[in-house]
Amino acid sequence: MSEPAEVTVHKLGGSCLVDERSFDKILAIIENYKKGGLVLVASALQGVTNQLIKFMRECNAHATEPGEVVKKLQDMHLKIAVEIIKDSENLSLASSFISDLAAQLKEVLTKVYDLCSISPQLTDQVIAFGERFSTSILYYYLKSKGYAVRFFQADNLIVTDNNYTNALPKLDKTKKLIETQIVPVLRNREIPVITGFLARSEDGFVTTLGRGGSDFTATLIAYSIVDSFKHTKVILWKDVDGLLTANPKYVPNAKLIKTISYKEAKELAFFGSKIIHPMCLIPLEEKKIPLEIRNFSKPLNADYTTFTTEQQVKKDIVKALTAKEDVALITVEGAAMVSLPGTAAKLFEILGNNNINIIMISQASSENNITLVVDQADKERSEEVLKASDFFGRRWIKINAMNDVSLIAVVGAGMLNTPGIAARVFKALAEKNINIIAIAQGSSEMNISMVIPRRDISQALQAIHDEFNLSN
Ligand code: ASP
Ligand code: MG
Repeated sequence: MSEPAEVTVHKLGGSCLVDERSFDKILAIIENYKKGGLVLVASALQGVTNQLIKFMRECNAHATEPGEVVKKLQDMHLKIAVEIIKDSENLSLASSFISDLAAQLKEVLTKVYDLCSISPQLTDQVIAFGERFSTSILYYYLKSKGYAVRFFQADNLIVTDNNYTNALPKLDKTKKLIETQIVPVLRNREIPVITGFLARSEDGFVTTLGRGGSDFTATLIAYSIVDSFKHTKVILWKDVDGLLTANPKYVPNAKLIKTISYKEAKELAFFGSKIIHPMCLIPLEEKKIPLEIRNFSKPLNADYTTFTTEQQVKKDIVKALTAKEDVALITVEGAAMVSLPGTAAKLFEILGNNNINIIMISQASSENNITLVVDQADKERSEEVLKASDFFGRRWIKINAMNDVSLIAVVGAGMLNTPGIAARVFKALAEKNINIIAIAQGSSEMNISMVIPRRDISQALQAIHDEFNLSN
């Protein structure tokens, strides 16, 4: 057989790996795309990553024994393996693989339990097990169905920095590893079945790519093989049709976005839309690799989201709205700050050193206050560390923290150089009597972000959604 003219990298999330029916659907997808080459990237089974994280968080209390968690996870994976793998040889291989993993996991969790000092490095070692379990089951299942498959644990494919739990890939090294290991397999018409999420640091320890990181794994693979297979595409199979114009929890008539540019989608991903991993678009954009988000329960659905490099500027001035409900607003205020160089730097340094992520920043040109938005969970700590600092703890600087606010953002490439968009947004809110507490617009002009009272979040989003006719 000749080598494939095109390759699709399919990422299967936890909602695709549930029971016999869902694994049958994976077969249907493979059949659909098998004229070209296929790569499968799998996430952990639903809830597994969370269970592992929970065990570590609670280890101080010694509430659950390592053996108990491991048994639960082992049983859960074995149950699925038994349900879907019908031939005894592959089932027994899968079972012993699962048992081996369980034994390794128990060893690591016992360390966690005994020491109860959990470094990010140890965390990654633990949470990577979810994908090792799930992907091995997928592999043996496909083998039992007669497919030519190859199993890869991604710590041998993706090299990252050592920013554990949120590691960033070293692209050149990763590309080389993937090219040497995955490309020949594809040329040989075999299907690589690859663990999502996990990777390895240059020092040789397990890392992970951040929550939802299997999306990123899929796009890193596409990035690395596209020079060998020009027609490479990524499909992220999810439990939604694609990206929507707003979160339907707030805007019930939100609509599917059929095409979106990478630039716009990045604004969405970074701003509260949990549909895709925020980093996963970057490798694709660089190499102009197409991406689709499709609904796993409706694989032949005509409606899905395609990501493109072109922006349809004219047609869609505003593309979508995003929201982050639980945020806090920190205001640092004082005449002492006017014209005092280094104030902002100090502020960011203090918060950064305390691992507090700043979501939005705004400073008016009077310079006597800087407003920051942080996660609500970081509110108290932000206040504390600033007040405790030499610089901001001084009497003439006031630090205020405000709860019960939300951040909403209006995103669209068409806003660039189009006057009047902000005016329409503010008018829509004013008509509903919604107070805007702070505003920021980056110079990309593709995103206007606003802080509003939390109780108004739905009404605000709906009003802007209506103003720009996003449901039509
Ligand atoms: N299992 C990981 C998580 O739950 C990665 C993923 O699902 O993509 O975050
Ligand atoms: Mg997941």
